[in-house]
Amino acid sequence: MAGRIPQQFIDDLLNRVDIVEVIDSRVPLKKKGKEYSACCPFHSEKTPSFTVSQNKQFYHCFGCKASGSAIGFLMEYEHLSYPEAIEELAHSQGIEVPYEGGQRPDPALKKVQTDLYDLMQETAQYYQHQLRQHASSEQAIKYLKERGLSGEIAKDFAIGYAPDSWDGLLKALGTSAEREKALVTTGMLIQKDSGKCYDRFRDRIMFPIRDRRGRCIAFGGRILPKASSNTDKEGAKYLNSPETPLFHKGRELYGLYEARQALRDIPRLMVVEGYMDVVALAQFDVRYAVATLGTATTPDHMQRLFQLTSEVVFCFDGDRAGKDAAWRALQTCLPEMRDGRETRFMFLPEGEDPDSYIRKIGKDAFEAELKQSQTFSEYLFKQLTNEADISGIGGRAKLVETAQPMLSQMPEGIYRKVMFEQLEKLGRVELSQPESAHSEMKRRFKSSRQAASNNMKTAMSPVRKAITLLLYQPSLAQHWLQRNSDYNELAKLDLPGMDLLLEVLEILRNSPNLSTSALIERWRQTPTANHLAKLASWQPELDDYEALEIEFSALMDALNKQSVDHRYDDLQAKLDHGTLNEAEMAEYKMLLQQIYAAKSASKPD
Ligand SMILES: [Zn+2]
Repeated sequence: MAGRIPQQFIDDLLNRVDIVEVIDSRVPLKKKGKEYSACCPFHSEKTPSFTVSQNKQFYHCFGCKASGSAIGFLMEYEHLSYPEAIEELAHSQGIEVPYEGGQRPDPALKKVQTDLYDLMQETAQYYQHQLRQHASSEQAIKYLKERGLSGEIAKDFAIGYAPDSWDGLLKALGTSAEREKALVTTGMLIQKDSGKCYDRFRDRIMFPIRDRRGRCIAFGGRILPKASSNTDKEGAKYLNSPETPLFHKGRELYGLYEARQALRDIPRLMVVEGYMDVVALAQFDVRYAVATLGTATTPDHMQRLFQLTSEVVFCFDGDRAGKDAAWRALQTCLPEMRDGRETRFMFLPEGEDPDSYIRKIGKDAFEAELKQSQTFSEYLFKQLTNEADISGIGGRAKLVETAQPMLSQMPEGIYRKVMFEQLEKLGRVELSQPESAHSEMKRRFKSSRQAASNNMKTAMSPVRKAITLLLYQPSLAQHWLQRNSDYNELAKLDLPGMDLLLEVLEILRNSPNLSTSALIERWRQTPTANHLAKLASWQPELDDYEALEIEFSALMDALNKQSVDHRYDDLQAKLDHGTLNEAEMAEYKMLLQQIYAAKSASKPD
């Protein structure tokens, strides 16, 4: 199929990369026996239940059951699509991803996207160059210097300057009709009804917005304070790129890439309002600030933040708008408030923003205030009791009415329990805590897990056991396959899982060197993948290759025998009814010989 990545390439790629390296560079792993472990990046925990097997090239979390290959890990952890994850792995190995028919999935789109990234990079360089060279960049440089920004920080954040001109970028980069069109697509140029284009950003300080891989995907432009003229004339203080194929503001956070570059361990992430705040804080060595891009914090943002750290601080202006924004942020983070996580709310004095405030009081005092700021529970209950007079019954009822549905959104755990207890105390009522959707899911998970593990211990069918052994060590199949080239009769056995076992054998016959993870990759996005991942977490009591190989062969031989017996019974019935044809007669005789040979072989001497 044109546009598909060949299976062979994916197999080879998974053979080439080491999942331990891939994960360790993102989630530091500790060696524990033959495996590696860490606290799971996909759920909150204090003791590590996330394990990575170098042998299987597979990761597995005993807590939340997340599992998969290096590709799966990148998809989950970096929020990449399947082809993107493959591209990323291939890139790390310095190899090019081939596409069937020599074409990428959507050749036009993919090619254009690559070009768009390149063009955005050129654009960022253009603005940086203007900051250094343009005759009228003085005002911008003066502004940055007044903010105390060093050249180093300006470089870290690749800050630039868009000259006060309608066609500066257009002339510099829109050198062909095609490029001009691409600049419109990225939002850098605006096209008039007449078809003519002009620069979107004029006389602004330019902040490139980078995605998690460090590619420039959009810009934020901050207006320059004009001594004489009124800023209203010039438009908004902050101007962002519009939504484009590269940029979705609800998913991106300004400064996150830079924070991850600057810090190995991120102690906390602080959400501020503007790019200038992020940069100014970085100048004061507060490297953990990020800004949303002209939007309120979204659930996507919250998940991303808590993937990287356990404490998120919202920093807002102390005015009405800031307080409204804080309350909205609190509501967005409710579903993410698991045990071990904390959210804080820091309000600045009126008229201050983080940029001005840290310049006034310095890093130490700023961080001291941060540590004093209201926690999630303090802020929530303070806000609710401010709104309702809880000295009276009516007020208390209102408090409970508002708070209960909010707290119910929290995931099951101690944190949630304590919050409910606090609500009961304030409302002077006893509440039956409704189960959260999350906990119900977990419970279902648990019982299905229980069932699965019981099954493993007691009644694992031979088919299931054979698949499990192959997942543990795919090469176990080879010895048996060499002796049994034709095993299609097994299909007639009509045992649960037999189709899957045959499929696995067929794959391993054609690709003998597959790792566990490469094997499971074949079932990506099918329910079977989950099933296989569960079986893949099985560990033998004794890790003896030869013993396992014998066990596998014995299982397969037993299944074979079962199918021979089955066929023999069929033919025998036909013989009894006199309906056996010539070919079947020959088969019958052959089976008879086989059965006889097997019987005499198993007879003790
Ligand atoms: Zn987990």
